[in-house]
Amino acid sequence: MRVYLDNAATTPLDKEVFDAMAPYMLEHFGNPSSIHGHGREVRAAIEKARKTIAGLLHTSPAEIFFTSGGTEADNTAIVCTIRALGIKHAITSQLEHHAVLHTLQMLEKKGELTLNYLRHNAQGVLDLEHLEELLAQNPQTLVSVMHANNEIGNLNDVEAIGAICKKHNAVFHADTVQTMGHYRHDLQKLNANFIVGSAHKFHGPKGVGFLYADAGIKVQPLIHGGSQERNMRGGTENVYGIIGLAKALEIAYRDMDEHQQHIQGLKDRLIHKLKEQVDGLTFNGLSADADKSLYTVLSVSLPPSDITEMLLFSLDINKISASGGSACSSGANAGSHVLEALGIDPNRGNIRFSFSKYNTPEEIDYVAEKLAQLYKKVPA
Ligand code: PLP
Repeated sequence: MRVYLDNAATTPLDKEVFDAMAPYMLEHFGNPSSIHGHGREVRAAIEKARKTIAGLLHTSPAEIFFTSGGTEADNTAIVCTIRALGIKHAITSQLEHHAVLHTLQMLEKKGELTLNYLRHNAQGVLDLEHLEELLAQNPQTLVSVMHANNEIGNLNDVEAIGAICKKHNAVFHADTVQTMGHYRHDLQKLNANFIVGSAHKFHGPKGVGFLYADAGIKVQPLIHGGSQERNMRGGTENVYGIIGLAKALEIAYRDMDEHQQHIQGLKDRLIHKLKEQVDGLTFNGLSADADKSLYTVLSVSLPPSDITEMLLFSLDINKISASGGSACSSGANAGSHVLEALGIDPNRGNIRFSFSKYNTPEEIDYVAEKLAQLYKKVPA
């Protein structure tokens, strides 16, 4: 058995998604910008995909722009808001993904904005009173806060943050990469000016995503070139990626309740087994709180041990794929700015297990048993 529990890094492609994409790889190859029949049929398919996504999110197709993934969508939202609207101040948190943090820090370094970080407690819960205070002092602000943390799974109250931003006339960008396809986003209710999606996080293809940009905000392209995406993003569209993205989101919405129940069941099972079988084990952030964390992520903290350094390697040898923090970090817990910001003891071992609809209870039992063996409670 080889167990894949790194679904927050990427998910396997759904066969149904592949089947929807295949004709656009093999038969319908036209350039969507061409005005002849080959181009027009592909253009129609792209617009249908845009309509599907807009419909699921309760917004208009004119507000959906296809990108190369979550990183580009986050960059576009941030850089273009700052530059197009002349905003000089931004608020974020130390717990954001690097797609957001490094982008804002680059703008700060170039002198294009001043940046404030929201206070948070040891569990990673953001201080929304601090947000109110900062916004009261800085009327023209971009707020960029993620919906769910990719390393510890904490869900932020984006409805409350959106309402605070609205009250202070601030622009709100919510990095929804980890919740898209796992929760229902209703843009009629959520007061966000920008949200994003990345297909490979919900069983779609890699290298394609989208940005929802509020029509009330006139932003400019990040990538200059042709007039694709209504002049918002130059470059020939990733046609089969876009088809796969829309199909994957459609399936995610269609089967969401069933999959949520299945995956939450797996997560609960792992929490229960690990608590029972591994002494001194704790959970990072709000990871073990079913109401306040992503059902797809469990961040586990293990007591200091002689195997800490080799923890992920030991799991890999035991045919378990998981990660230390985010996929972009290397080593057992090295390189995780999130765990560092939470002040987690660096001598402990940290593992992020992340689940998908394809995981099974047998896999969970196998992982719990292997971890217990590594921590010596169960004989190998
Ligand atoms: N934002 C968050 C919260 C993520 O978890 C990720 C990917 O892990 C990204 C942004 C970047 O998405 P992509 O891999 O599509 O560029």
